[in-house]
Amino acid sequence: MRLFLALELPDEVRAALGDLQRRLRAECRGWRWVAPGGIHLTLRFLGEVAAEDDRRQRAAWRAAAAAFPQLRLRLGGIGVCPGPSRPRVLWAGIEDRSERPRLGELAAALESAARGAGFAPEERPFRPHLTLARAEREGRATAPPAGGGPAAAEFPCGRVTLFRSELLPTGARYTVLEEFPLAGSGGEVG
Ligand code: ATP
Ligand code: MG
Repeated sequence: MRLFLALELPDEVRAALGDLQRRLRAECRGWRWVAPGGIHLTLRFLGEVAAEDDRRQRAAWRAAAAAFPQLRLRLGGIGVCPGPSRPRVLWAGIEDRSERPRLGELAAALESAARGAGFAPEERPFRPHLTLARAEREGRATAPPAGGGPAAAEFPCGRVTLFRSELLPTGARYTVLEEFPLAGSGGEVG
């Protein structure tokens, strides 16, 4: 199974991102837009995992999540990577507005748990972002004008979600396998 750990977003935030995508669609060309209902914040991509390993690993994800208090997040500005001359991914930023921001530490704790479970280290630094679109063909997509980010209300985030991803011809299909609450929360997303 292809697995990843992520933060889910409240419905109204995904709806706001869907509105943003509609606006951007009119302003730039050459993108494959991801379905707004599936937009998430990836914390740790796990890749192919055997079912029996997954069962064993879940205790480590649960323990890592339980050591962190609930987060308050906010959507940030939009951008493209790796750069505007050859954009491959169009993303919206996400900011940790918690009193003591710990989103990076949460990702690091999951990374450490993943290494403990035998995963190869993730060498790339954690750059929290929400993928809104991917270029249809590299080098052909046009970057949106700078600025023009989404509406920026804060929202609480109270759990880490283990997703299964199935790569279908129509795009990835995500399924929630288990939710790991952060400390002192009922596991709500918003
Ligand atoms: P598709 O691959 O069909 O475009 P997708 O990227 O959303 O769809 P997956 O490839 O299964 O589906 O990825 C699931 C999540 O993990 C996504 O957020 C993706 O950006 C992230 N991800 C995928 N591969 C990696 C990787 N090698 N390193 C870090 N994150 C990854
Ligand atoms: Mg992918």
